[in-house]
Amino acid sequence: MISLHGLTKVFAGGVRALDALDLTIADGEFFALLGPSGCGKTTLLRTIAGLETPTSGSVRINDTDVTTLPPGRRDVAMVFQDYALFPHMTVSENIAYPLRIRKVPRPERAAKAAEVARRLSLPDLLHRRPAQLSGGQQQRVALARAIACHPAAFLFDEPLSNLDARLRLEARTFLKRLQRELAVTTVFVTHDQAEALALADRVAVMSHGRMIQIGTPAEVFQRPATTFVAAFIGSTPMNLLPGEITSGALHVAGATLPAPAGVPDGDVVYGARPEYLELLREARPGAFPGTVSVLENLGTSTLVTLETDDTLIQAVVPEGDEPPIGTPAWALPHRSLLYRDDRLLRP
Ligand code: ATP
Repeated sequence: MISLHGLTKVFAGGVRALDALDLTIADGEFFALLGPSGCGKTTLLRTIAGLETPTSGSVRINDTDVTTLPPGRRDVAMVFQDYALFPHMTVSENIAYPLRIRKVPRPERAAKAAEVARRLSLPDLLHRRPAQLSGGQQQRVALARAIACHPAAFLFDEPLSNLDARLRLEARTFLKRLQRELAVTTVFVTHDQAEALALADRVAVMSHGRMIQIGTPAEVFQRPATTFVAAFIGSTPMNLLPGEITSGALHVAGATLPAPAGVPDGDVVYGARPEYLELLREARPGAFPGTVSVLENLGTSTLVTLETDDTLIQAVVPEGDEPPIGTPAWALPHRSLLYRDDRLLRP
């Protein structure tokens, strides 16, 4: 278990990279940190690892306050984006390195390295050096080194970002299976929201050193707490349309919809994911009218952009169902969210 209390990091120059964070990550949990560049993800990971000293607040790992302990005494293994393998050592020596530091006898080290290498499908490569490996193989060696010493937690900083798209998917599935098998608490930093949603038990979306929302991938996807999270999560961004409620009716993007019960009149932001909009060729009450202006091929589906009087609306339709550019179309929402003062109102 990892718990953070009031964790704050202000860098020289005044950048508040972490702003009074409170968080408990459960034993065995796969926890992903997600957010735009500069929001503090790496700083948080480095602070848990002991590579940064917090300005205030504390870090506990299991029942020990490790805030003032050096990295080597925290029982965590960190895997970086660039893997940080030792170039002069063989794969076997790299994997066994943390055991050497812990003064494990040589034969035991070699046996452990061979066992971990087998688990990660690396046995044929044990005598090679990092320069003789592909990116995917180097990444697995870095993982193997992290696993070899049975840490209380894994800390991953964008470990898949140097892999090409196909290898990255493979490595993702592999990592998820491995984490399930080992059941080691894992904190995973990524700026790739699809990766975070695919891997994690829970996701935290960060902005400016704070956690804007913490939840399961389904919660964060289906019920983003703010428009920032709504815009950030989802492979095609959510439509966020300015609207207004007046006497029980919601006016948005040229359509009038029934307003949800109990919401007072006033301005709102209406959110609908492109996947939850159906595209019609004729008008229907509650559908947003527009003209098709852009078609983008997504493989098995097409992203259609509709131009309305004052805004753009995007809908995903099955490949082959897209109306031609320049023709009128109506986007019918099947699921939507409503925000006021940047807070979720419904469902
Ligand atoms: P990215 O996705 O780009 O890696 P990140 O979310 O990991 O970003 P951090 O690297 O944690 O962000 O940086 C958080 C903020 O702290 C940024 O504004 C960054 O410029 C600042 N920062 C990071 N390290 C230092 C440092 N050593 N000195 C001063 N400011 C720093």
